[in-house]
Amino acid sequence: MTAEPDGPEDRLRRFATIWSRAVFPVTSTSLTRPEFEEQLLPLARRLSEALRARNFEAAAGRTVGAALVAAHCTDPEALSRALDCVDAYLVLYCGEDGPGEALRTRSARLQHAMAAGYAEALRERTLAEQQAISQAALTARSAVAEALHDSEARFRAVFEGAAIGIGIADLDGNILQVNGALLRMFGGSEQSMRGRKVPEWTHPEDAPQVWRLYEELVRGKREHYHVEKAFYRPDGTALWTNLTVSLLRDADGEPQYQLALMEDTTERRLLNLRLRYEATHDALTGLPNRTLFFERLEKALAAGEGQRFGLCYLDLDGFKTINDSLGHAAGDRLLVEVADRLQSCATAPGEMVARLGGDEFVALTTGPNTEREVDELAGRIMNALVTPISIDGRDLTVRGSVGIVEGPAGERGAAEVLRSADITMYRAKAAGGNRFELADPEADARAITRNGLTTALPAALDRGEFFIEYQPLVNLGDGSVRGAEALVRWLHPQHGVLGPDRFIPLAEHTGLIVPLGRWVLEQSVRQARTWQERHSGTGPLRVNVNLSPCQLTHPGLVQDTVDILEREGLDAQALCLEVTESALIGADDDLLKPLRRLAEMGVDIALDDFGTGYSNLANLRRLPVSILKLDRSFTRGMQQFPADPVDLKIVEGIVSLAHSLGLAVTVEGVETGAQAEQLRILGCDTAQGWYYARPGPPERLHELALVDAVG
Ligand code: C2E
Ligand code: MG
Ligand code: MG
Repeated sequence: MTAEPDGPEDRLRRFATIWSRAVFPVTSTSLTRPEFEEQLLPLARRLSEALRARNFEAAAGRTVGAALVAAHCTDPEALSRALDCVDAYLVLYCGEDGPGEALRTRSARLQHAMAAGYAEALRERTLAEQQAISQAALTARSAVAEALHDSEARFRAVFEGAAIGIGIADLDGNILQVNGALLRMFGGSEQSMRGRKVPEWTHPEDAPQVWRLYEELVRGKREHYHVEKAFYRPDGTALWTNLTVSLLRDADGEPQYQLALMEDTTERRLLNLRLRYEATHDALTGLPNRTLFFERLEKALAAGEGQRFGLCYLDLDGFKTINDSLGHAAGDRLLVEVADRLQSCATAPGEMVARLGGDEFVALTTGPNTEREVDELAGRIMNALVTPISIDGRDLTVRGSVGIVEGPAGERGAAEVLRSADITMYRAKAAGGNRFELADPEADARAITRNGLTTALPAALDRGEFFIEYQPLVNLGDGSVRGAEALVRWLHPQHGVLGPDRFIPLAEHTGLIVPLGRWVLEQSVRQARTWQERHSGTGPLRVNVNLSPCQLTHPGLVQDTVDILEREGLDAQALCLEVTESALIGADDDLLKPLRRLAEMGVDIALDDFGTGYSNLANLRRLPVSILKLDRSFTRGMQQFPADPVDLKIVEGIVSLAHSLGLAVTVEGVETGAQAEQLRILGCDTAQGWYYARPGPPERLHELALVDAVG
């Protein structure tokens, strides 16, 4: 029999149970443990929801921290147990199967917020308590003056029984009385306290106003003050307190004593420091993490005039391969070793190294001379990686790509600087890796434009910013225009006319290529129909339209094409679809089926950029193509005179093979008459290129075709 798997609600409940078991023993509540658990359940739920929320907000942690104080979990031990419990079990029981590392970061941030919320609520509560005690002491004192015994007794009870430290001193600072709680905080005897003077209790971390407020109070110029203050214990350790001091006056209103109320915040402070450390350091390598790095970078960028910063953004080359082949444990050890080496590269004041995540690290240098320093830093980093790293007896060679950004403080924000470093690092990677590159604002701008273009694409189609140019296809035999290739352009409102190489890859990436391609097809077919109406005498002018690989796999391709041809009233024979050779390499029958359907209907299929994709020539037979478009690289070899004999032989071979398979051959990029003549002799059928015409508006084709007709 298998046990029913727990649902999320069961797991939440278990988390609350563990939490209540951990904290209940140190809670001064009148509830039973199960009742206490009921009280914790909604808090557990808040944490669990915050952990998994789509938009993470650590604020939920603050509320939970405050709620703990309200539930009487005010013992310092209670907070630390609660945090331990959240640390160990929250992700385990409430994380579902979310991304582990992200959840752990969230959990750490929630704990940090819990501690902050807790401290704040406790401080408010203590202040309220302190006020009440001061009040009682004041009434008691005036009652003492009137020798009212029961009031004095009440004061003694409050004094001795209070959980917070209470001390009374005269206005010269001589300590007269301290209660048990205060003695316990200091860890000394009553004797060691008595006879000491308040002004002896200075501490190097005293805020400047601490002793000014004290002076004002003992001179009767102030009724009370509240500060955070550290003391030395007799054993030399520090005691941190929230301290409230009040002035006690006699029955005539004359200042007489000072009453100090103090709450021990030492542990909470340590806990906060620990949590701050955890929230700002990477658990694996111990390096500062992204959060701390951003803080430092922001500080460096906000530094005054004459200050500069230099940043090296490092990404290891091929780290994924190491991780995949040797396992994550080995990958982790490699990262730890890299972190150690990097750390030793940046030891000067103003330098730091951090891990941003994965295999990405940054090193920062600040000060007036970073122009020189950042180069040296990058050099040290590259050097540090030279010696192979030994993992499980293997020597692994580690390489990295570094993007460097350097500049004056006060010009750019942290996010912008980091983005520039990231772009530059990718440039180093694209150049083969194992190198560093310097940020270049122009390259940044191009990369940013790429991003900008991608987001502007969809609206551009709606706004009609695309247009089509047509480049004639010429019959090499008689020089007549047979048709034209449709080439799309984008009239961008800021960047002017952009060629397809700038945006087709982006459109393919975002899927916009499907509607864009359909639009191009529709326009081109309509255009071909117009040509035919106006030039019926010269034989039908045909139109070639490029198809991108994404369109090939789109299920609507055949139907869309049929619909468009029918709607515009164009014969299928007048349309040729160009597909690149690389899109068809290794194509299986499923991919070829739509093309085959179109070919059966009479649409010509051309294999574009032929000769660039290393396809198997024997494979041509399988493909439903009727035209080969020879890539421009072949015609380039014929530009000089005499033409490259190898190129000639290759073209001759391809042409004869194509013809024997029943395929026509079109050549691209014909720029001179000599090339055209050469290609005609080699047997090519059709040509396209600047020699005849550059791509242009559709009316140009009328003129060219008309010249044919006349000539
Ligand atoms: P392609 O299909 O090989 O188009 C020929 C390219 O060569 C065009 O560049 C054309 O302007 C250029 N060209 C023509 N004659 C000459 C010449 O004599 N010398 C030189 N140096 N170049 C010449 P373009 O317009 O920049 O188009 C580039 C590519 O963009 C096209 O290559 C095609 O693959 C793609 N493309 C263009 N329009 C579309 C479209 O509507 N849809 C899709 N999916 N791709 C398109
Ligand atoms: Mg083409
Ligand atoms: Mg081409």
